[in-house]
Amino acid sequence: MPAEWVDFKSVKARVSMETVLSHYDVRLRRVGVDEFRGKCPLPTHSSARSNDSFSVSFARNAWSCQSASCIAARSGRVGGNVFDFVAEMERCSIREAALRLDRSLTENLLTLATPGDKKPVPYTSENRPLSFTLRNIDHQHSYVISRGLSVETARYFGVGYYDGNGFLRGRVVIPIHNEHGELVAYSGRAIDQTEPKYRLPAGFRKSHVLFNLHRAIQSRVGTLILVEGFFDTFKIHQAGHRNVAALMGSKLSDRQAELIGTHFDQAILMLDADEAGKAGTAAAGTALSPILGVQIVELASGTQPDQLASEEINQLLGGFDHDVQTADR
Ligand SMILES: [Zn+2]
Repeated sequence: MPAEWVDFKSVKARVSMETVLSHYDVRLRRVGVDEFRGKCPLPTHSSARSNDSFSVSFARNAWSCQSASCIAARSGRVGGNVFDFVAEMERCSIREAALRLDRSLTENLLTLATPGDKKPVPYTSENRPLSFTLRNIDHQHSYVISRGLSVETARYFGVGYYDGNGFLRGRVVIPIHNEHGELVAYSGRAIDQTEPKYRLPAGFRKSHVLFNLHRAIQSRVGTLILVEGFFDTFKIHQAGHRNVAALMGSKLSDRQAELIGTHFDQAILMLDADEAGKAGTAAAGTALSPILGVQIVELASGTQPDQLASEEINQLLGGFDHDVQTADR
């Protein structure tokens, strides 16, 4: 296959630093006439202390990070342009970064900033991959079985009861990965009426990920079945559909919409049939329909996918054309 052609100059003319920063939800504050600073969003950044090392000039369309960790990771380079930034964020080559930006422009996935509109935005960051995994998880715990999961399903997702130390002790833990398949958090489900029902690490941004998205991408199916929760995902998977991901709530965030639009051609919304789920379905439909095909599964009022048996799930999804594998995703 011939290499895809990319016009660096034209992409660079159309994509500003401000556009890519807002695309990655990087929030900075103004420290000078044309200088914005904040916490470094790059995955290469490993220094926890530097809150102010990342700096951007919108006039020059350039950025830099003064932290030793980033400089070392980039073989001594301190900053760069939009392509360097995207390449570092996506861990890809400069050429691939330019291609991705070009595609995002074509597919209208980038919100182009209005010239002269240089408002600083409050700071947020991406979820960093965890440096540990929990051990001795009981996949056969009675709570897991009581929710209708087979041991095989629990093992596949790494779900089970955790009896170790820390804030997840005595809960059923659910590993959460980003779209690249990197483990970014564990959620802990109470096994009784204890509040909160779910525990997540402080600072974890669930609006930046979709649960199980990496496996749905790997399924190479062009359609994503979108549900609300972890247990909905497990049951849909157990019914034979690997192309399923969860919002971890009923509201689709902008970042989640982007993730879906980047990896899929169609979405089947299968949220809970309660007030929150219906509102979430309407909002998600509005956000997603400009970027991909959207279909909606009508569940009986008051029901949710995790309560359904495999046969019922397959009956509901039977009418949708969604298991077609695509050649080159
Ligand atoms: Zn940095």
